[in-house]
Amino acid sequence: MAERAFEDPEREERRQRALAHVRQFGDPVLRTPSSPIEVFDDALREEAKRMVELMVEARGVGLAAPQIGRLRRLIVIEPDPEEPPVALVNPEVTWRSDEEEEGQEGCLSIGEIVVPVLRPVSIHVHARDVSGEPVEIDAEGFVARVIQHEVDHLDGILILDRTGAEERKEALRQLREQG
Ligand code: ZN
Repeated sequence: MAERAFEDPEREERRQRALAHVRQFGDPVLRTPSSPIEVFDDALREEAKRMVELMVEARGVGLAAPQIGRLRRLIVIEPDPEEPPVALVNPEVTWRSDEEEEGQEGCLSIGEIVVPVLRPVSIHVHARDVSGEPVEIDAEGFVARVIQHEVDHLDGILILDRTGAEERKEALRQLREQG
């Protein structure tokens, strides 16, 4: 999930350089479901570390492995800059609240587009950390939103699929103009 551009031109250039490594809308890899991870080795930890670096440089609050062309179930999130980033392997949303909330979402893979997305406010998540240890998370609000956005990527789902028909049409028009 993405935040806005930087005012500082030098920092903005670094953001653009990082974004060059992120697969963009239209790339079929973003539409392909990812496979579970079975081996928790140094390569996995390296990959998670690299994804965190890329996410931070690109000013994202989350990044999923398919966005860098890797079809495996790994996401990194940093919804709160005061807290350390978290890598989740094979994340699964096992419970969703009935209560839903609409929020604006951007995506590192979809240019500068921001669309409203309706999502459950609270979720329960089962995952593993990069060492294979089980992790359980109760998340709500923005953190829950970021996790759901990234887990969607593992299933080939994008925010354009989750927004209204009018918003999708407008976003696609903007993408054509930017492209
Ligand atoms: Zn995204």
